[in-house]
Amino acid sequence: MNERETLKINGLGHLEIGGADAVDLAKKFGTPLYVFDEAHIRNMMRVYKKTIDEEYDGNGLVLYASKAFSCKAIYAIANEESVGVDVVSGGEFYTALSAGFPADKIYMHGNNKLLRELEFAVDNGIGNIVVDSYSEADVLDELAGKRGIKQNVLIRTNPGVEAHTHAFVQTARTDSKFGFSINDGAAEEMTKHILSKKNLVLKGYHCHIGSQIFEKQSFVLAAEKVMDFIAKMKKSSGFEATELNIGGGFGVWYTDEDPKLKLSDYADYLKALIGAVKSKAKEHKLNNPYLLIEPGRSIVGEAGITLYTVGAIKDIPGIKKYVAIDGGMFDNPRYALYQSKYTVLLADRANEKNTERVTIAGKCCESGDVIAVDVPLPEAKTGNILAVLTTGAYNYSMASNYNRNFIPAAVLVKDGKAEYIVKPQTYEDIVRNDVLPERFKK
Ligand SMILES: *Cc1c(COP(=O)(O)O)cnc(C)c1O
Repeated sequence: MNERETLKINGLGHLEIGGADAVDLAKKFGTPLYVFDEAHIRNMMRVYKKTIDEEYDGNGLVLYASKAFSCKAIYAIANEESVGVDVVSGGEFYTALSAGFPADKIYMHGNNKLLRELEFAVDNGIGNIVVDSYSEADVLDELAGKRGIKQNVLIRTNPGVEAHTHAFVQTARTDSKFGFSINDGAAEEMTKHILSKKNLVLKGYHCHIGSQIFEKQSFVLAAEKVMDFIAKMKKSSGFEATELNIGGGFGVWYTDEDPKLKLSDYADYLKALIGAVKSKAKEHKLNNPYLLIEPGRSIVGEAGITLYTVGAIKDIPGIKKYVAIDGGMFDNPRYALYQSKYTVLLADRANEKNTERVTIAGKCCESGDVIAVDVPLPEAKTGNILAVLTTGAYNYSMASNYNRNFIPAAVLVKDGKAEYIVKPQTYEDIVRNDVLPERFKK
């Protein structure tokens, strides 16, 4: 047990999250249900903020990467924790504003931001836009000019460091739809382009090297590459970046193949990164840039679980045993998308030993609709409550109404008490935007 432990097993042998009995939650709110532990989310935001405060004189800002889990409540929590956010669409930006989140602490990303998204962002005073194409720079300059404002921007760079969980590779030119490569001169060209724009204020550079990363050195290397680039740009064009945004990507525990990190481990990632930035600044005689990080998964991932009710069970002797749940790829498409691994357990029989290996199947009309394959579990019975762990990130935010299933509700647990932060859908929601033209109405 460490200080971020969200889950435990209580005296009834039930799974508990944030002090709330998961079986009670399933009874009260129904399943499928996303459950989030507020304390865990806040602890994660705090450890990053505290590390910047202590190790970097507070000269920076934590941005919660809200694509991991976006709804009004999470922006309200971020705001209370003095954390900024990044958004990647007009929809995320709108959600943040609807929760009263201050626009000047919002950064907008995207490789193909739409005109209407840029207009909406600029009209509402967005703090920074991370520019990712020439056309975007041109459009943004024009929008800002028409409004008589100067828009702060960063350039998304590609430092040629690619991280994959436990390993990283350095490449001369990364094949990515994101960013401008530092190694081949594209980032330098883009810098000149932005500097030539009257209505854009270039603050600095952004990079994001990947997700679910445990290799400290990959963050360090990326920071060093971008700092070297900042020095190079200062020499060649006289422009010294005042902001460095190093992206997100810190890993979380999904299964015992992953390390289970403590708060101090996350602080250590950031310390290593800060150390690299400081020593490069010293080496190149640069000012320490205002530092931004964008953790998403590590803030909400382990804070969330999904509860389901076990339905049909199908044993195909010698092949597989399928345990079907009342959810599936419509609430968690990550196995279907990336074969992501999850830990599952029976929330109402959490003390029992695992006795078999089963495949957790969803209810969609799709053979690929599974949540976990050949995972250990006690012999499940119809009606048991199944919990899938570490579903706080990229589950609700990736959910759909496929097969016209309902996107599950989400509840937030604080001091053992749960309340809705996303309410359940209804059949009325399912047909809300459908239009039946007059000629079909007899
Ligand atoms: C997805 C993303 C993040 C967050 O990544 P995590 O792995 O969830 O921490 C941060 N920045 C950018 C630009 C991203 O696209």
